[in-house]
Amino acid sequence: FDKLKKGLSKTRETFFGGIKTLFAGKKLDDEVLEELEEILIMSDMGMETVEKILDDLKSEYKKQEPDDPLLLLRDIMVSNLESEGFNANPQQNPYIIFVVGVNGSGKTTTIAKLSKKYISEGKKVAIAAADTFRAAAIEQIKHWGEKIGATVIAHEHGSDAAAVVFDTLKHAKSKGKEIVIVDTAGRLHNKSHLMEELKKIKRVIEKETDGPHETLLVLDGTTGQNGVQQAKAFKDSVDITGVVVTKLDGTAKGGIAFSINNQLNIPIKMIGVGEKEDDLQMFDPKSYVNALLG
Ligand code: GDP
Repeated sequence: FDKLKKGLSKTRETFFGGIKTLFAGKKLDDEVLEELEEILIMSDMGMETVEKILDDLKSEYKKQEPDDPLLLLRDIMVSNLESEGFNANPQQNPYIIFVVGVNGSGKTTTIAKLSKKYISEGKKVAIAAADTFRAAAIEQIKHWGEKIGATVIAHEHGSDAAAVVFDTLKHAKSKGKEIVIVDTAGRLHNKSHLMEELKKIKRVIEKETDGPHETLLVLDGTTGQNGVQQAKAFKDSVDITGVVVTKLDGTAKGGIAFSINNQLNIPIKMIGVGEKEDDLQMFDPKSYVNALLG
């Protein structure tokens, strides 16, 4: 929790932390509610969620007349975050995690962090370097693989991404790798082409295994509403089972998590709070809200 709290310090110090002072020893009158509304909107929570939270707060406050309205707000905020635990101890073997998202969102870093987590639990991890579009992407994931001890299966720059995935699955099955993580391209300038490529990869996984068991969309938390719009294209093409929100340490607008939940209707499974291998956390709404509010 301390790490989460530190990671979210920017957003707490800029917006959410002010709520505590705002509520201190006061009744929830119109003035306080107006100020609260402003803070929530500024934090990028999205208008719809803000309205919902304020309505809930008003009606529950009337009903319960709580001594500590902040506690009530905490509960209401938590109930507006959908969570579904990430399956950290999968039964399927190999367990296949398909990772998508636009370039720069933090996909490669997230894959490295996630691999490290599995490796530290004694599992063997194979990574498919299926972003064959960028030579640098292949190098980057290979570099991470060496650093954390995961096998990276890669082909030449420009080769067929689905073929890389096919080879990785074959490797995993023959070498007893428990976890397969598939890195993919994220070029948005040719979106329809990219979505076709992702669908093709998915078909290969489905044909060769009973996966994918998890399809994660990596979303840069600093891109705000833009990122949420981009996410919709991925949602329509491959069935996203969970979102990873990255770079929450670099934004004051931590309200984005609520907006993602509300607009995409996909649970957030993990959050990135830094660039290092250990800076990935399983998402827990209660801890998240407590870290935001302080
Ligand atoms: P990709 O293009 O989607 O694979 O993105 P990368 O994994 O290469 O990440 C892009 C940049 O974001 C890199 O400089 C990463 O170090 C950085 N990054 C990724 N996740 C986080 C995070 O949670 N916090 C911070 N501060 N930086 C991150």
